[in-house]
Amino acid sequence: MEKLIEGIHRFQAGVFGPQRALFDRLVEGQNPDALFITCSDSRVSPNLLTQTKPGDLFILRNAGNLVPAWGSHNGAEAAAIEYSVDALGIRDIILCGHTHCGAMNALMGDPADLAELPAVASWLKHAESTRRVMRTHYKELTPKARLETCIEENVLAQIENLRTHPAVFAALTRGELRLHAWMYSLETGGVAAFDPEAGQFLPLNDTPRGTPEDAGRLGGRRSI
Ligand SMILES: [Zn+2]
Repeated sequence: MEKLIEGIHRFQAGVFGPQRALFDRLVEGQNPDALFITCSDSRVSPNLLTQTKPGDLFILRNAGNLVPAWGSHNGAEAAAIEYSVDALGIRDIILCGHTHCGAMNALMGDPADLAELPAVASWLKHAESTRRVMRTHYKELTPKARLETCIEENVLAQIENLRTHPAVFAALTRGELRLHAWMYSLETGGVAAFDPEAGQFLPLNDTPRGTPEDAGRLGGRRSI
């Protein structure tokens, strides 16, 4: 805890004070550029990896960057999605998975291993589509490749769940929202984005901005 308290003092003296104008502006309200959905994993830092400031990202985090389908679990996730799209007028939603995701590792593992973690086991049911795709399409992979593929497939599956939320569906229909499937690498610090044309995740620099039409084809590789 000492590290955290010391950090608060350093923030107040070295960041908040010198950037007073920014923080004063934020008191008046927020106008974030994007809704950023990612894993709770401590190694993923949305503001750090996108080099953004307070006020730039509306962030939703949970184990495994899951988006429960509309109606299945109308809790914090549905509220954050609805508020960011309808009240804040968000135009871009980024769903970002990451390598070495413990939640996805648990999803691929033996259910008996989660016997003592009933809340985790219950939460991972929102990734059932991912688990089934892995079971039916990727039986031959090595354990390492299997986890990497699972993490990617889960980002695509959760994008599909996003679409079931009325606020998202309506904004997509109006052409006012773009969905982006990202993957953050703990090894390289790089971000890859799903390219629907290529049917794979490509380094972000090489990928055109997502469009509602592109987003509509996300997950297409599963039918290949
Ligand atoms: Zn994770």
